[in-house]
Amino acid sequence: MLTSDLRPLTSVVMVQAKKALAKKARKSAGRAANRSRSKTYQNYIGGRWVQSASGEWSENRNPADTRDVVGRFPRSTEADVDQAIAAAAEAFDRWRHTPAPRRAEILFRVGEILIRNKQEYTADMTREMGKVLKEAGGDVQEAIDCTYYAAGEGRRLHGFTTPAEMPNKFAMCVRQPVGLCGLITPWNFPMAIPSWKLMPALVCGNTVVIKPAEETPLSTYNLVKACEEAGVPPGVVNLVMGRGSVVGTRMTSHPSLRLISMTGSTETGRVIASACAERNAICSLEMGGKNAIIIMDDADIDNAIEGAVWGAFGTSGQRCTASSRLIVHKRVYLQFVKKLAERAKALRVGNGADPQTDVGPVVNEDAVHKIMDYIDIGQNEDGATLACGGHHLTKGDYARGYFIEPTVFTDVTPDMRVAQEEIFGPVTSVIPTNSLDEAIEIANGVRYGLSAAIYTQDVNRAFHAMNETYTGIFYINASTIGAEVHLPFGGTKATGNGHREAGTQVLDIFSEWKSVYFDYSGKLQRAQIDDVEV
Ligand code: NAD
Repeated sequence: MLTSDLRPLTSVVMVQAKKALAKKARKSAGRAANRSRSKTYQNYIGGRWVQSASGEWSENRNPADTRDVVGRFPRSTEADVDQAIAAAAEAFDRWRHTPAPRRAEILFRVGEILIRNKQEYTADMTREMGKVLKEAGGDVQEAIDCTYYAAGEGRRLHGFTTPAEMPNKFAMCVRQPVGLCGLITPWNFPMAIPSWKLMPALVCGNTVVIKPAEETPLSTYNLVKACEEAGVPPGVVNLVMGRGSVVGTRMTSHPSLRLISMTGSTETGRVIASACAERNAICSLEMGGKNAIIIMDDADIDNAIEGAVWGAFGTSGQRCTASSRLIVHKRVYLQFVKKLAERAKALRVGNGADPQTDVGPVVNEDAVHKIMDYIDIGQNEDGATLACGGHHLTKGDYARGYFIEPTVFTDVTPDMRVAQEEIFGPVTSVIPTNSLDEAIEIANGVRYGLSAAIYTQDVNRAFHAMNETYTGIFYINASTIGAEVHLPFGGTKATGNGHREAGTQVLDIFSEWKSVYFDYSGKLQRAQIDDVEV
């Protein structure tokens, strides 16, 4: 009886187990097939998906497992760029004459499509650049937020009126589109950053050519595909994938692109700024960072540790706003360093697609070399103390990707290279300090000026630090990372060239002011001379 009762149960279990095995086998076969038959992508020009004139492709691989080929992406030429710019020129008049609220309706539809596909885009992003799923989801969400926020501007795009100097005269200012815009983006926020540029550019009535980083074309492809599905007219958005040295260089030197908006390294920004200066093009740059958290002796240390760990190792430290310097008051220094090293050691490094992972891989082999060089410099050239980490992980599953241990240097002095240069990896430097004013001086003592933070319970100290740090972003009792799309984003010194993305301030990049004087006196009234008639 017992046996006969058990038999059906056993067979159910067997069937389930077989099904699970079959599913696993299918999945693994799928992965293998994916490796051998990866999808081939195309540029988007004038509303059509087209092959590059070069007929050449770059193969992109998952940085957590390089056996996984994410896709083959066009290695575009100057001719492709020229074609895309011609398409943008062709579409410009119609788009700028489309009323802004109508342009915005299309952007709202883009937002809906991004929401619908959020999970798929998130997985794609983790696969193409490695950040953990929650962060990739945050990146896509930021693109959604930015799209809705920009679309809302379609019914604002406020100008202003102001009194005129003379009677019977009316003065006002209106925003007009800039024209054809070239957008060049980095790989670390592969959907958020393209959206920060693309959506405000579109709502202002510009047409664009966008070039994503070589490492992350898929997320921009997804964004552009959403634009196509939402009904953005042909030629308004054009996507050209490929190298900075070919596609980017052609864009920055092309006489028809009135504006170049680039986010990337300070070195690339300088090259782009020079090219734009040659032809008087508008140039908006968001560049590198070396951001500091000041931790005062009255800080909530546990909270500060959480902020430091999140700021230093989120996105494997590959954020322009990463907390790569921790300036800690000497009274709490030892306690802080001990707790920080314990927390950093406990972080789980692995494939970002695994929900248990805290720190994913770095983006590629070049990044491994650069970061490991800096770890070597920190130990052997600078003479800092390696408190934890410092290894390139190469055993077991790590062997298939680009993994580096979360690394903390202590006893760092402000002049050391690890405290001055942007490492862009999971490495942070702890610098002891005697006072708030010294800490502020250290925080300001780098060439960058993106983000800074302070942990303190003293409101006077907090506001003093806010006022004295020369950065574009400042946090109190929070890490140096975590921007919101309705506040302006950008930095000072070598981080930026005076513009701000996000917020309504981004509209000043993608529109130009036109001042309008309307004289209804019926006679000549002269301005800019001394004998004004009243
Ligand atoms: P990168 O400078 O190597 O590349 C950025 C983009 O510029 C890419 O699309 C690249 O192909 C293109 N490019 C390269 N050379 C070019 C040239 N000569 N002409 C035209 N285009 C060219 O930067 P990256 O490695 O992709 O990104 C990391 C850097 O970006 C870090 O320095 C980081 O701090 C910075 N970043 C800044 C912000 C910010 O808002 N301040 C945000 C994210 C990243």
